[in-house]
Amino acid sequence: MAHLLATQVSEEDEKQRAAALAASKAKPVEKKKKSWWQALCCGSESADEEPPQSKKDEKAAAAKPQAPTDGKSSPQPQAAAAPSSEDEEEEPERAEQSQQSEEPKWLLDPLSAEDQKKKIKTLVLDLDETLVHSSFTYIPDADFIIDIDLDGVIYKVYVRKRPGVDEFMRAVGQKFEVVIFTASLAKYADPLLDILDPDRIVSKRLFRESCVQHHGNYVKDLSMLGRKLEHSIIIDNSPFSYMFQPDNAIPITSWFNDKNDTELYELLPFLDSLIEIEDVSTVLQQKAA
Ligand SMILES: [Mg+2]
Repeated sequence: MAHLLATQVSEEDEKQRAAALAASKAKPVEKKKKSWWQALCCGSESADEEPPQSKKDEKAAAAKPQAPTDGKSSPQPQAAAAPSSEDEEEEPERAEQSQQSEEPKWLLDPLSAEDQKKKIKTLVLDLDETLVHSSFTYIPDADFIIDIDLDGVIYKVYVRKRPGVDEFMRAVGQKFEVVIFTASLAKYADPLLDILDPDRIVSKRLFRESCVQHHGNYVKDLSMLGRKLEHSIIIDNSPFSYMFQPDNAIPITSWFNDKNDTELYELLPFLDSLIEIEDVSTVLQQKAA
């Protein structure tokens, strides 16, 4: 079931999805629905789809060059690292970005002068299984339903909100620059966020094309945000998402339907404690250890 995961998408998986999508017209409704769902959303359909950790991925994460964290200079775009002889075919590759581009653009617009002066921190939030759980099959306790138009056919997606997500969003929106970074496609995530974030707390939505494909995973490279790494925090249920900058990450368990989950509530005081920290990695590194 790992093929359903946001960060477990190998080239072979992609081929299979494309083939399934192409063949789906001749298949039963449920298979057809699952095919379009797999192509759109990187969330998991059930709790048994945790991504397996591997030594290879740990090695790859460790080998990724880190952005400067001197706390003084503004971040600069990083040129693609020279491929190693061992992993030449699997070097990071931004989806749909021209390899001819010498100066990759930042994923975020520059901070306002006011936010720069306040040294506001950037909080990057994953979507699926971090803030919500979505399903292409009917679930009776969905908080809301979104319609997705695919080639003129309307499909329904049932969305459950993680307990506390509304309060969490309101709270972090007052203190952080909030960015949603998902490996799912905009066609699914955009209408979902229109409902999840009615007050437009999120300043930027980043989708699959902003991820880096690395060793078959969609990785969210914080060094491409255009923000100081020491001011950047990511909350994500998948360790693969932050494998390039693990010291900037706050892990969170994958959420599907546990109504007694309190992790978002519990994160708020910890996030508050990071606001005045000069380099968040000094704290988050210790938290992960
Ligand atoms: Mg996720």
